[in-house]
Amino acid sequence: MFDIHSLLRKNIRSLTPYSSARDEYAGGDAILLDANENPFNDPYNRYPDPHQQKLKSRIAALKSVKPGNVFIGNGSDEAIDLLIRAFCEPRVDNIISISPTYGMYRVCADINDVAYRPALLTPDRQLDILSIQELTDENSKLLFLCSPNNPTSNSFRRDDMKYLIRTFEGIVVLDEAYIDFSVEATFLRELNSFPNLVILQTLSKAWGMAGIRLGMAFADEAVIGVLDRIKYPYNINALTQQMALEGIGDEARKQEWVRIILKERASLGQKLLGLNIVRDVLPSDANFLMVRFENPQGVFRYLTDHKIIVRDRSGVELCEGFLRITIGTADENMMLMEALSRYNPLDYKTDP
Ligand SMILES: *Cc1c(COP(=O)(O)O)cnc(C)c1O
Repeated sequence: MFDIHSLLRKNIRSLTPYSSARDEYAGGDAILLDANENPFNDPYNRYPDPHQQKLKSRIAALKSVKPGNVFIGNGSDEAIDLLIRAFCEPRVDNIISISPTYGMYRVCADINDVAYRPALLTPDRQLDILSIQELTDENSKLLFLCSPNNPTSNSFRRDDMKYLIRTFEGIVVLDEAYIDFSVEATFLRELNSFPNLVILQTLSKAWGMAGIRLGMAFADEAVIGVLDRIKYPYNINALTQQMALEGIGDEARKQEWVRIILKERASLGQKLLGLNIVRDVLPSDANFLMVRFENPQGVFRYLTDHKIIVRDRSGVELCEGFLRITIGTADENMMLMEALSRYNPLDYKTDP
């Protein structure tokens, strides 16, 4: 039986959270003399809503969950860090993850002095259940999964993820940053069946708002309550809350962007496969392509010299030889193809 209190760190369990002046604010047209704000420069003089009530209820409606199932963070990165801080006792507990995957899980684990145990994916870049189980012990509090996975660009088998959520005796964090580009369905509909599941989504990718820094975590109310108690009171600034409300109000615009990006992903993939220097393009469930080159570092330097910046993943296990290329606009993708078609391997033969 899942018991969140036995998983929490002792200091978090007994925490009295900061109570902000505005907690008591009932709304409306009150005269606000409680928070030592400047009475001038309306509306930027006011602290933002620490509970983000309006935005939470909009996001909840959009995702068909309850507002109590929604946490909003300064990017997904905040939720990742808070989950570690809430559940993992430094130098005692550990985090199970996969490899290769998103780099922030390890960075946040390292910053918090929590052991990070990645299980290598299988050669076909799927979850290695046995390997994950072998790394797990009674101090394993979090399991990070990312599907579609960055950088491998594929989704994991749904049954494998379900099995892990059902059997892992801690919190399973499923990062769905790329879910809008995937043929697979979100796990949001399963939230009620799994009290130990946390789903991460973000406005940074399909919604086109990486600049405003807004990440979402969806989970059982007990888990969300913990995150809300330990976050900075005003973690989401007023401008971000306002812009997020406007942005998610136009879901059709997002759908249109996704449609275009998926179309570009298919056509760019085909064109890349037609190049002599390209050995492979992995099927992608995300807004980027993993492209294997004969000489990835040479191609990387060539592209950089031509002011086209991609991500060199060629040194990463299971990604040997691959560059990670984000899908751009039709124009940008065309310029990428034009540059690659003029690449001369002889100019970039040796390492600098
Ligand atoms: C891009 C990305 C995110 C987004 O992080 P934010 O902090 O919300 O911008 C989260 N997870 C993965 C795996 C990503 O690739």
